[in-house]
Amino acid sequence: MRLSAYFLPTLKEIPAEAQIASHRLMLRSGMIRQSSAGIYSWLPLGLKVLRKIETIVREEQDRAGAQELLMPTIQPAELWRESGRYDAYGKEMLRIVDRHDREMLYGPTNEELITQIVRDNIRSYRDLPKILYHIQWKFRDEVRPRFGVMRGREFLMKDSYSFDIDYEGARKSYETMFTAYLKTFKRMGLTAIPMQADPGAIGGNLSHEFHILAETGESGVFYDVAYDELAARGDIDLDSLSRLYAVTDEKHDPNAANVPPPDRLKTARGIEVGHIFYFGTKYSKAMNAVVTGPDGAPVTLEMGSYGIGVSRLVGAIIESSHDDRGIIWPEAVAPFAVGIINLKSGDSRCDGVCEDVYRALSDHGLEVLYDDRDERAGVKFADMDLIGVPWQLVVGPKGVAAGIVELKNRYSGEKQELSLESALARLTA
Ligand code: ATP
Ligand code: MG
Repeated sequence: MRLSAYFLPTLKEIPAEAQIASHRLMLRSGMIRQSSAGIYSWLPLGLKVLRKIETIVREEQDRAGAQELLMPTIQPAELWRESGRYDAYGKEMLRIVDRHDREMLYGPTNEELITQIVRDNIRSYRDLPKILYHIQWKFRDEVRPRFGVMRGREFLMKDSYSFDIDYEGARKSYETMFTAYLKTFKRMGLTAIPMQADPGAIGGNLSHEFHILAETGESGVFYDVAYDELAARGDIDLDSLSRLYAVTDEKHDPNAANVPPPDRLKTARGIEVGHIFYFGTKYSKAMNAVVTGPDGAPVTLEMGSYGIGVSRLVGAIIESSHDDRGIIWPEAVAPFAVGIINLKSGDSRCDGVCEDVYRALSDHGLEVLYDDRDERAGVKFADMDLIGVPWQLVVGPKGVAAGIVELKNRYSGEKQELSLESALARLTA
């Protein structure tokens, strides 16, 4: 992409309405624009990152054996009356009346709809287990939408639902999703700590919230430092994790059996990026989702649901990875892999080298942002750092004369002078 042609409305001023770094940076770097409270348009740069995150989530769901479908955003109220949640959900639900006076709603989640689909289309235990998911916009009329996309009213969620005929099966589905979540967040360069959202309950509700640590997180969290040690070794697995103490503040119990001694108990702030939940027959019973079991008798389905805040993750990643110059994208979700800074646009030799490099890297399948604008070098450096492009190739008249370019790493800040050939080799390796 040539920056001169890109729709990238960056802001010089710090937007007054934004209270936290990720929100400020997303507005300043031209990723999003607010259309009304908690509702945003995703501009090209923001959408690119959103799609990358979505792709990682999708790949790990598919790898775990979940199957993607797509349910609508608008749902009928009567379905929610079946489960009893239509009245219970309260003001967070956006209720709509269509031209025939039918009550509808903009889905805040999809347990009812997926239960209906499975109930109407699966009759036998032989067709189970199943984990089905979609990645779809949700609407929740939050009391206090804030922090940009982190607590929006309209937001993108990945929600999966598991269906099993017994607790053992449901537990296995839960563990499959648990493991998939750890992989998903790790691929995004994040360490997500699974917090026991319902500690101690065996056979009943089983639930974990996945939090990433950030000073601006909305939840207080308490956890055993052993997590940090395991994470540093890359040694995170379900068995070792389930023994460790990790909870959000409302669940904190200083007398719980596995609370570590005070010097091993960490307190921090966390951003909830995912939530997984086993809830047995809560919806299947209310909605009569029953299959024929192995002995011919009817069995009420065991269910779980598994959410990831896809759009919240964009903000959460920035919150955990930025400096005062701008965003520092982990390579896996960066909107562009390489930026080219032409220090002297209009100079035929600089332009020539930049064009060649731009073509060579693009041909190699890399996404490249080429700053070909007629702007001062300082502006170009600042914008590339604000956008957070992981690798930046700086091409100037002096270097070009000597066959040399500068390669800068956004994360470490390290700069290296290299021949053009070695720089290309490094970037395409
Ligand atoms: P929270 O406690 O943050 O309101 P929740 O418990 O209501 O979250 P779930 O219903 O479990 O959230 O939804 C699954 C995921 O969707 C959450 O883990 C979070 O990452 C994301 N999410 C929930 N509400 C919002 C929102 N208003 N804006 C952006 N993402 C959200
Ligand atoms: Mg909520």
